[in-house]
Amino acid sequence: MAAPGTPPPSAPETAGADSGGGSGENRQLPELIRLKRDGGHLSEADIRNFVHAVMDGGAQDTQIGAMLMAIRLQGMDLEETSVLTRALAESGQQLEWPKAWHQQLVDKHSTGGVGDKVSLVLAPALAACGCKVPMISGRSLGHTGGTLDKLESIPGFSVTQSPEQMLQILEEVGCCIVGQSKKLVPADGILYAARDVTATVDSVPLITASILSKKAVEGLSTLVVDVKFGGAAVFPDQEKARELAKMLVRVGAGLGLQVAAALTAMDNPLGRSVGHTLEVEEALLCLDGAGPPDLRDLVIRLGGAILWLSGQAETQDQGAARVAAALDDGSALRRFQLMLSAQGVDPGLARALCSGSPTQRRQLLPHAREQEELLAPADGIVECVRALPLARVLHELGAGRSQAGQPIRPGVGAELLVDVGQWLSRGTPWLRVHLDGPALSSQQRRTLLGALVLSDRAPFKAPSPFAELILPTTTA
Ligand code: URA
Repeated sequence: MAAPGTPPPSAPETAGADSGGGSGENRQLPELIRLKRDGGHLSEADIRNFVHAVMDGGAQDTQIGAMLMAIRLQGMDLEETSVLTRALAESGQQLEWPKAWHQQLVDKHSTGGVGDKVSLVLAPALAACGCKVPMISGRSLGHTGGTLDKLESIPGFSVTQSPEQMLQILEEVGCCIVGQSKKLVPADGILYAARDVTATVDSVPLITASILSKKAVEGLSTLVVDVKFGGAAVFPDQEKARELAKMLVRVGAGLGLQVAAALTAMDNPLGRSVGHTLEVEEALLCLDGAGPPDLRDLVIRLGGAILWLSGQAETQDQGAARVAAALDDGSALRRFQLMLSAQGVDPGLARALCSGSPTQRRQLLPHAREQEELLAPADGIVECVRALPLARVLHELGAGRSQAGQPIRPGVGAELLVDVGQWLSRGTPWLRVHLDGPALSSQQRRTLLGALVLSDRAPFKAPSPFAELILPTTTA
């Protein structure tokens, strides 16, 4: 049952241990910002004071931005990150479920990628395998796409569900995908939106606290975080991504949460579609048991790890086989349809989306007014399609936000018409851009052309993006 949990954080009466040179009494925000700016250590009371001020409006936007930048530049240690995670989680309600569900309560979260629609497929696939998935997801952040924005491109879909509604959906469907709200991790909502527009996304403690605060309130047995590395990841460097993965595992352990982290490559877009409605269409293909192999591979591997770690499969491979079967036998697609109806989509539309052909589906979702194709400038093997420049151009065309709360254009996106590793002849279309506004500028065309990397080696099979899995016991 969903029940009110810990009340919003109240300002502590006295500050805790102080290693930053303060006197131990409540410090004002400018002092806290200065302390972190100069590399000091924030005490538990300092961090709770900051989160309290974010929640009650005592912190101006400029102060929130300044503190985020100070944290981004100076970092936080394990203790500070754990306290921040708890304070964000405690800014809203703790979700509670029937005790009998404990082992089945699982989730997956991504640090953010381009074309990453895994959650849309994996949540219903896990539900079809008997799991309960109360997924609190995020919006687009920086150049990366957000699960909530993708789902909201489906007319009627509501990411705002009360804890009571979540309970009912989990009972009836097995999965729901919601956003943080006034009741659920509200402080993360405020900081997340501020980070998106203050160049403070790429911070190990801020990402850790943002992700794990949402997951801490879900009351899970197991969480797998997909930590991206590569050209279009928040952290291009695998070593830095591993640092984030380890922090997630450690902070998770401190919260009593079994967290594993998969390191997966994010150089090329995942799948062949980028952009909100285009990604929903591709997720539906994957739920049909088809779709691009890299997407299916990642869904199956992450799902296999989740089923294994939560004790619902004996090995990762067995877990993966069950997820694959749920995609192939239509049971995952049925859960997706039920989830859409339960979250506000007209049942007729949900049925049509989940049973129609790709062409029929396209008629049902909002799409952009124009399409432009780009042609290969030379012969060659497609070595890579760089996801970052592609995402940046789509962001400019309206797929992302430059100001908090700005509306996005759901139909804007791009379809890759080629696979990595294939031969491409000069003059062949390799990218179809969907856009609403004026034609692509010559600068945008140049940027997109720079995304296509051709080589003269032999054709090859694109490798799986899955690189390694960091397990709770090996790192915590
Ligand atoms: N997802 C989140 O919820 N937060 C981040 O900071 C990054 C990805």
